[in-house]
Amino acid sequence: MTELNKNYIGGAWVEGEAVSENRSPANPDDLVGLYAKAGRDQLDAAVAAAKAAQPAWAAASPQQRADVLARAGGLILERAQDIGRLLAREEGKSLAEAEGEAARAGQIFQFFAGECVRLAGLKVASIRPGVEVEVTREPLGVVGLITPWNFPIAIPAWKAAPALAAGNAVVLKPADLTPACAHVLTQILVEAGLPEGVFNLVMGAGSVVGQALVEHRDVAGISFTGSVPVGRGIAAGCAAGMKKVQLEMGGKNPLVVLDDADLEIAVNCALNGAFFSTGQRCTASSRLIVQAGIHDAFVDKLDAARAALRVGDPLDEATQIGPVVSEQQLAGNLEYVALAAQDGCEVRGGERLNRPGTFQTPALFLGASNAMRSAREEIFGPCASVIKVADFDQALAVANDTDFGLSSGICTGSLKHATAFKRGSQAGMVMVNLPTAGVDYHVPFGGRKGSSLGNREQGAMAMEFYTGVKTSYLFAG
Ligand code: NAP
Ligand code: MG
Repeated sequence: MTELNKNYIGGAWVEGEAVSENRSPANPDDLVGLYAKAGRDQLDAAVAAAKAAQPAWAAASPQQRADVLARAGGLILERAQDIGRLLAREEGKSLAEAEGEAARAGQIFQFFAGECVRLAGLKVASIRPGVEVEVTREPLGVVGLITPWNFPIAIPAWKAAPALAAGNAVVLKPADLTPACAHVLTQILVEAGLPEGVFNLVMGAGSVVGQALVEHRDVAGISFTGSVPVGRGIAAGCAAGMKKVQLEMGGKNPLVVLDDADLEIAVNCALNGAFFSTGQRCTASSRLIVQAGIHDAFVDKLDAARAALRVGDPLDEATQIGPVVSEQQLAGNLEYVALAAQDGCEVRGGERLNRPGTFQTPALFLGASNAMRSAREEIFGPCASVIKVADFDQALAVANDTDFGLSSGICTGSLKHATAFKRGSQAGMVMVNLPTAGVDYHVPFGGRKGSSLGNREQGAMAMEFYTGVKTSYLFAG
């Protein structure tokens, strides 16, 4: 019999109200594991445990917190190959991508181990004689983390590590599709010596435990990554409860290719940005905005490279593009493929593979306009629209003509155009001659417009969300 992977609440592994079968999108016969699904009562128990444990964790020396986070980071790095394999099975990205993601989670814990001892305040002179003013940062208390399926270990890591570093207690609600990586992360935190109750894992449906976490009066803040509709509901819930909220959501990220670009760099950026990780990245390049002079040569080369991508079993070392995460997501992708064709695009690729599992070939929508739904709505699959433009000004205008603003990119050999794009792009992250996806962990991550709300994630700035500011005045007499 397959062993049940349980929720972790108040230092104990506990069964849920139901059980979910975690199956590989590459192979429905591959049962990754059985995972407990919590109900509302267990969410309440997790919040209560976190509330009870938080003061001692906040009062612990920063070195103690740093030691636990560093140990956790080291354990993740030691096991990155095994975690990567599990991740590839449960989510479907290629082994190389999955191992890279696992290693990134380890690096993030090690980075935030350092942040434990770097959390600084400010001491200033008062405008009143004899008075001293101090500005310090304190943990929020209990924070709720709600994460998506597409980076099932990196996103929980980049939320949990700064939350714990700042002295908060955590309740993590991972995506229902990908509980295995969150479960492994929890085991590692336990092994690293995190005190009971400081970190709690509550698996289950977003509409049940996620919603209850947002509504719980003892939760001081919610950090969410996921889709726009769910994010909007969470923001409203947090406003009603006067909670701090941080949302990272979708994108419709533009990659501009100018006539003066290096063709090879531009094709590689587009191929990576649009199709790697099966296009299931919030920073994926889903709009390729190409100047007329380079357009045909770029499209020919990109389409040939697209057609040569090896789509297949993520556990096969030769595979570059794994399956789409679920039947539902694949059906959505194929609807957009049909819609793009109906709207007059010449579609290359975008077919379901005739084999078990949820595989599709990467798709290009040629001759697209920025007004088409397929160019405006986030697809979250390996599909990119190619939009032809006359010059730099039109390229920038089209790039910015979107409800989103997560990342953007430009391929150009011109310092003038690169600089103008960096200044004029309405995105939170701008790339020059690099894919729109792929970031460093020690600098801020986040977007503008409909893509993000609240403080940035990652890097030292991540500590802003997980802390509140206190200003103290003292008159020494
Ligand atoms: P999702 O459907 O919005 O789900 C995200 C999380 O929210 C899941 O854990 C989900 O639980 C939970 N949830 C659902 N309904 C909820 C509710 N009413 N209250 C509280 N929580 C609830 O997103 P997804 O399909 O997992 O991920 C894809 C989306 O994530 C894309 O739009 C993508 O752009 C975005 N994303 C953004 C970033 C970024 O940093 N900007 C990074 C990665 C992904 P269930 O799993 O049980 O539904
Ligand atoms: Mg979803």
